[in-house]
Amino acid sequence: MTIDITLLGTGSPIPSPDRAGPATLISAEGEHYLVDAGRGVLMRMAAAGVGAPQLSAVLLTHLHSDHITDLNDVITTRWVMTFEPTPLTIVGPVGTQHVVDHLLASLAPDIAYRTAHHGDLNHEPPVHVIEVESGRVELGGSVAIIAGATDHKPVEPSVGFRFESGGNSVVVAGDTIPCESLDALCAGADALVHTVIRKDIIANVPLQRMLDTLDYHSSPAEAGATANRAGMTTLVLTHYVPAIAPGGEQEWVDLAATEFTGKIEVGNDLHRISIGGF
Ligand SMILES: [Zn+2]
Repeated sequence: MTIDITLLGTGSPIPSPDRAGPATLISAEGEHYLVDAGRGVLMRMAAAGVGAPQLSAVLLTHLHSDHITDLNDVITTRWVMTFEPTPLTIVGPVGTQHVVDHLLASLAPDIAYRTAHHGDLNHEPPVHVIEVESGRVELGGSVAIIAGATDHKPVEPSVGFRFESGGNSVVVAGDTIPCESLDALCAGADALVHTVIRKDIIANVPLQRMLDTLDYHSSPAEAGATANRAGMTTLVLTHYVPAIAPGGEQEWVDLAATEFTGKIEVGNDLHRISIGGF
């Protein structure tokens, strides 16, 4: 039994013609967990063969816009593509309920149009929000899920998620700098999916708005050091800032390899990694 990681979106807030916004699919035991819902997430999920109705839950690492851009699409598409009320569970840091409430308010006209027009659609999108800080997240599935605080200040709170199944474990960190609580979440896990920015490049961009991103993200080497401290076998880099130059993947791998001797994955959207199994 494996845990499959699918990089649905490897981009950043800067629109890219070929990288969707931050989103990662974790699949195990027939369950599918979507971590973050960036730009284009349902298009990438369609390519991966998973529709909004098949999601076991959506888990948000934090409420930065690029990580939740298409949450509305997940909510409404699941609603119109299911034929009886199919609650969508959204797990996220404190503040998620507030965001979802306002998102649903913005969808009120659409909800009114569709319930008035479709004779067999007589309920509003059933959405259930669970706000978490740390510890076991009880969703009733077979995959065990544990939340842990990350450090993306001033974006606060933010959380990472650990998935455990069949003796394998994968942590999806989201945006964070190295911190003790992330180390605790990662300890002894097999693989880490970590967003990264190339601080060596961004530090030379003469734009304050870019320089501001340096102090609340990890570099590939910092992500590698986190994976190393946890004793992991695999590090998966995503959310590439700036976009990877054509043919430049090895540079990113080499930077992470300065701190981590395990397997390092750098990929395009829809890159899939299986953890465990034979
Ligand atoms: Zn962020």
